[in-house]
Amino acid sequence: MNARPKKSFGQHFLHEKRYIERIVSSISPRDGDVVVEIGPGEGALTMPLLAAAKRMTAIELDTDLIPGLRERAAAVGELTVIHADVLKVDFTALARDLGVDKLRIAGNLPYYISSPILFHCVEHAPAIADMHFMLQKEVVDRMAAEPGSKVYGRLSVMLQLACKVVPLFNVPPGAFRPPPKVDSAVVRLVPLAPEQLPRVDGDAIYKVVKAAFAQRRKTLSNTLKGLIDEPTIRSLDIDPKARAETLSPSDFVRLAQTLARDD
Ligand code: SAM
Repeated sequence: MNARPKKSFGQHFLHEKRYIERIVSSISPRDGDVVVEIGPGEGALTMPLLAAAKRMTAIELDTDLIPGLRERAAAVGELTVIHADVLKVDFTALARDLGVDKLRIAGNLPYYISSPILFHCVEHAPAIADMHFMLQKEVVDRMAAEPGSKVYGRLSVMLQLACKVVPLFNVPPGAFRPPPKVDSAVVRLVPLAPEQLPRVDGDAIYKVVKAAFAQRRKTLSNTLKGLIDEPTIRSLDIDPKARAETLSPSDFVRLAQTLARDD
């Protein structure tokens, strides 16, 4: 307990009880839920989650933390700790190995790789029932942003096309040891049902959204040059003189569908 937190692993351990309780009650794990925690650290969230779910899996990269976690968990429930980089964990295979269709994922994420973790989880969305993550507040704002907002961008579009994004509450730096330099927030992500998912090629949407937001101040006819021509943009009922930040996620889907057709 109380190991020296390692900066290189993005370790900021939660210690304020009321936030721990709020996160756990937002997740409301039930006996039989298959919960997977990313970055259990010293177990601030793990132990109350385990007490409710009885059995759970946690993925931790820092070997030094694992013996203590296992020891503390022994009296609480059945904890399986996977020593791995979460970005290398195949959640679809993990769900299969655990004998379920869908996992419930949770974690106070290491902020240095929060976006890659989000994209990694989205890739495995069909194997995930929901996700509850602590992130930098600024990242949660971007995830949930609507068209027209200054922080609406790639992350907003790509996540909103795959999940319902529900910001839950903010958490101040003082709730962590050591305190991070930024405010944090907890967000719930619920993957969309297959029938709600846009019918669009993954590579095409990635390409269009990336190009459109590469230079936020430029118009679509500029940023999409070489990918989609002006008349085609106009034929989709989208103004080629508009900027990416004014387009809805479904506008991007229509653009990507034309791109995929032309490929
Ligand atoms: N859950 C604990 C808490 O709330 O006190 C710790 C949260 S701390 C912000 C992030 C945790 O993720 C640390 O335990 C860190 O070692 C772990 N971690 C960092 N990089 C990781 C990675 N690539 N894969 C899995 N865990 C990682």
